[in-house]
Amino acid sequence: MRYNVDGKGFYGEFGGAFIPEMLYANIRELQENYLRIIESEDFRKEFKYFLKNYAGRPSPLYFARRLSEHYGTQIYLKREDLNHTGAHKINNTIGQILIAKRLGKTRIIAETGAGQHGVATATVCALMGLKCVVYMGKLDVERQAPNVLRMRMLGAEVIPVESGNMTLKDATNEAIRDWISNPADTYYLIGSVVGPHPYPDLVSRLQSVISEELIFQLQEHVGRNYPDFIIACVGGGSNAAGSFYHYLDNHDVKLVAVEAAGKGIGTGMTAATITEGTPGIIHGSRTILMQNDDGQITEPYSISAGLDYPGIGPQLAWLGKTGRVKFEYATDDEALEAAFRLMRFEGIIPALEPAHALAALGKIKFSENDIVVVILSGRGDKDMASYIKYLENRSCKTPVNINM
Ligand SMILES: *Cc1c(COP(=O)(O)O)cnc(C)c1O
Repeated sequence: MRYNVDGKGFYGEFGGAFIPEMLYANIRELQENYLRIIESEDFRKEFKYFLKNYAGRPSPLYFARRLSEHYGTQIYLKREDLNHTGAHKINNTIGQILIAKRLGKTRIIAETGAGQHGVATATVCALMGLKCVVYMGKLDVERQAPNVLRMRMLGAEVIPVESGNMTLKDATNEAIRDWISNPADTYYLIGSVVGPHPYPDLVSRLQSVISEELIFQLQEHVGRNYPDFIIACVGGGSNAAGSFYHYLDNHDVKLVAVEAAGKGIGTGMTAATITEGTPGIIHGSRTILMQNDDGQITEPYSISAGLDYPGIGPQLAWLGKTGRVKFEYATDDEALEAAFRLMRFEGIIPALEPAHALAALGKIKFSENDIVVVILSGRGDKDMASYIKYLENRSCKTPVNINM
């Protein structure tokens, strides 16, 4: 079975580049150049340099002893939370800014929902001295004030979008409009394995540094270079795609992707795309998305801003359809509980997104010798308000009372 992109930009029936004619030239420029650039010695050297010295890679692989005892298996955490800017997103933005430079672009545009990708983009633009414009729904600008401030401090221009629902989808439309008007000098820096070909393939290759490191880190820790399970949360799917990348053809490795089920499947308040969605086109590619009977995209919901996306990358849609990746889901409450368990057992405050991956530990049957890697995609600083609210709602102000 072929799990990677084919010559036409498809993963089975998913993927492709469904774009307005006005964007053909921009997309074709990227399609024709991305592989040549990222496979060049010169790019690889510079990418590696910044991953090591700027982002702080390799991120540690940490054996979580107390959590392992709790679940009766061998759990290792891939510590993407320790990267500069606090998540895996920096791997992608460093890679794409180096591509933009090689294409001679001087202005970077991006869209952002919660602001995490916007911050990672503003960061690398400052690093490279490039102009940065971030489109963000007006509602999100209000909800995510700290990240808006971060982007502005880093020198980015944040443009609140007032059309539609004033959230991520509308910000994306504005970014595309900008790109159409400024094709010569502008590069569109997409934040996950979504969008028209070649973005899903490009972003998964850049994030595949995660599985590349797992190979030698597992060899060091357990004496063999693959685990029995890799578990990752999925918004668009970039931390999942990057950590699965080098293991796709090794069927001894069970790959698990965890979606956000918000208030619960069937409540109308979820972001569980594979579980609840149907095929359609979103952001320029054919994939699975959440839509109503008229094909209108439905507004997703999750407590975690990074998983709150109505689609999923086309490769993950294909990996789900072929059965190569097993999809699980976790509700807001299950994720919160798993997050507190990690805090109390390991002294690590995770972001709410990977808390969904941690919650799946309670839903899978492991044997005691299984090697289980959980991708800890980000740290929890940004989620303090949600954690505090949860504790207050449970009317126990100290985490000491949390029932493990
Ligand atoms: C953005 C984000 C995600 C979701 O994005 P993917 O592309 O699915 O990886 C997950 N975790 C964290 C910490 C994030 O910031």
